[in-house]
Amino acid sequence: MRPLRARMACAVENADLRQRLDKALTHTIAAREDRVRERADWEALRDAAAARRRHALERLPDLLEEFERNATASGARVHYAQTAGEATDLVAGFTGRPAAPLVKSKSMVTEEIGLRIALAGAGIAVVETDLGEYVIQLANSTPSHIVAPVIHLSAGDIARVFRSELGLDIPEDNDPRTISLAARAHLRDAFLRAEVGMCGANFLTAAEGAVVVCTNEGNAGLCTSLPRRLIVVAGIEKVMPDLASLHECLVLLASSSTGQRQNCYLNILRGPRAGGEPDGPDSVDIVLLDNGRSALLGDDGLWESLACIRCGACLNACPVYGVTGGQAYGWVYPGPIGIVLSPFLGSPEGRAMADACTLCGACGDVCPVRIDLPACISHVRARGAPRLPGIPSAAAAAFSTSPFGLLAGLVRARSRRQGRVRLGPARAWSLGRELPPCSGVPFRRLWRDEGGDDE
Ligand code: SF4
Repeated sequence: MRPLRARMACAVENADLRQRLDKALTHTIAAREDRVRERADWEALRDAAAARRRHALERLPDLLEEFERNATASGARVHYAQTAGEATDLVAGFTGRPAAPLVKSKSMVTEEIGLRIALAGAGIAVVETDLGEYVIQLANSTPSHIVAPVIHLSAGDIARVFRSELGLDIPEDNDPRTISLAARAHLRDAFLRAEVGMCGANFLTAAEGAVVVCTNEGNAGLCTSLPRRLIVVAGIEKVMPDLASLHECLVLLASSSTGQRQNCYLNILRGPRAGGEPDGPDSVDIVLLDNGRSALLGDDGLWESLACIRCGACLNACPVYGVTGGQAYGWVYPGPIGIVLSPFLGSPEGRAMADACTLCGACGDVCPVRIDLPACISHVRARGAPRLPGIPSAAAAAFSTSPFGLLAGLVRARSRRQGRVRLGPARAWSLGRELPPCSGVPFRRLWRDEGGDDE
């Protein structure tokens, strides 16, 4: 994989990509804003959801125990996986060698651990059944958005994939409805033949031992009710106290992700089918994945990012994501939340992703569960950014008489004369931007006047 900076630069040069992103994001942002306007209690919903998610994280060990107890009582088997490798081994073990491909609904956590690819390596075929994920699978590509995996593709691109990979007869007008119906007819056979189904979880509820899955296509309902065996893979942070505690999160998830009042389908799964029930699996295995989440929970500056409900609103609002799309980030979680999760959940980029942020604050403004994303990203940067040789820390620069200290004085002097900063290499950049004038008093003098010391 090329370096992050090169991938970003290449994406920025792609005018078609920018145009498609702009069209899709403009539509999604407007739809979300419609929902915000029509709910007088929007901010109260955010407060409540933020409090509920944080409260659940504070009680995480207890809630996981309660979830395990109640899920087991309803007939499911609950397993814990510390790493991606453990999770894929567990799933491969449950799956065995089914006669037909396993059908799977969209799940970010399975993308995170590369489950489909790992199972393919073990000789187990998987069919993605979410339309966007199916296109990604057929195109041998990667998702570009955590909610809309093919946000970077046009209807024509998708039609071409179906024609070339499946031989589907799709008319040249590339009508999205025709494309969807052709894909649906093709996938129907996979649903009917599958012996094993798989899904992720938007939430787990401890009191009911339930797995909650929100979708708009109905494919999760088929994946979880037609095959005789069901495997669920979920991050440990998904657990909430009970179904009643989901109310605000469900409203905010639908509104913030796609601008809907509610998702089209809400599946609440509890154990295998009971005697006499016509639908549902005979066995349910639930894999609860850590993969860095416990370490993240223990991080004072970043733990609240585990409250994320994966709505994607921060991606939509991010000006960097808006011109590069998600694939340039090189990891399954792009955009602001991806930057925050990257040091813990196994991003190949690690902390370097934090450089792909302008700290404009737009992500924090829209986050429905009030994660302070700009503060989290600053935290990732402060802890992780390798310091280039010869460049001192901000604190040292503030107090030094080194070239950095002198540069600060120079900027201040220019600012007094010009009213704004246009200096040296920053000149071209500053031509299109109005920066506030610098303070006339050096920071170190203010600091010392307040009684601070140079250490
Ligand atoms: S961090 Fe907030 S805005 Fe971003 S995906 Fe998560 S819940 Fe949505």
